[in-house]
Amino acid sequence: MRVPAIVAAYHPPRMKAILIREHGGLDKLEMADVPDPTARPGEAIVRVRAVALNHLDIWLRRGVPGHKFPLPMIPGSEVAGVIETVDDPRWNAGDEVIVAPGYSCGLCVACVSGNDPLCRHFGLFGETVSGGAAEKIAVPVRNLIRKPAGLSFAEAAAIPLDMLTAWHMLVARAQLRDREIVGGHRLRHRRGIEKNIPRKVPRRGRGHRLYRGRFSR
Ligand SMILES: [Zn+2]
Repeated sequence: MRVPAIVAAYHPPRMKAILIREHGGLDKLEMADVPDPTARPGEAIVRVRAVALNHLDIWLRRGVPGHKFPLPMIPGSEVAGVIETVDDPRWNAGDEVIVAPGYSCGLCVACVSGNDPLCRHFGLFGETVSGGAAEKIAVPVRNLIRKPAGLSFAEAAAIPLDMLTAWHMLVARAQLRDREIVGGHRLRHRRGIEKNIPRKVPRRGRGHRLYRGRFSR
């Protein structure tokens, strides 16, 4: 049945989403009906097929002292899905994608030099704007990464933010190169908390090795 335009204007399409209106326990995770996202120029609408959890989701739910999240907000920084609408010759509806979670202005010195996390306008889906724990999400086209065919949507959703942190730590900061080995040194915190800290170690280095063999970029 065709919906008259005047009715459609007052009753825009709505989708299901996890919504956090205020910080607190698990009871603050509300399944809500919210308006469908609308794509601004340069954005695509992605139908979410999988959204992975990140500790950021817990911080968002619980709240972090001294940090203000713009609630109400949809959590979810780790998203994989299918393009529903896009206006860009490089992409088509139906393309399977991973959503890069960070966004920035794309114009400043930090952005054009590849250091977009240093952009004054840098933010993350699921932290500074609503994320992908919803049926759909609107994202800039430059945040689209083609999903490898060999990965399921669930596997692909486990990549974008978690992997970005580890990748930056090991490849950008530690200058990890091909054939180097990543080891883990078990550090004991003063309170007795132990953490495995992955770090680059010499080939003959001692320590608790987390990874043995070749590491290719
Ligand atoms: Zn910028």
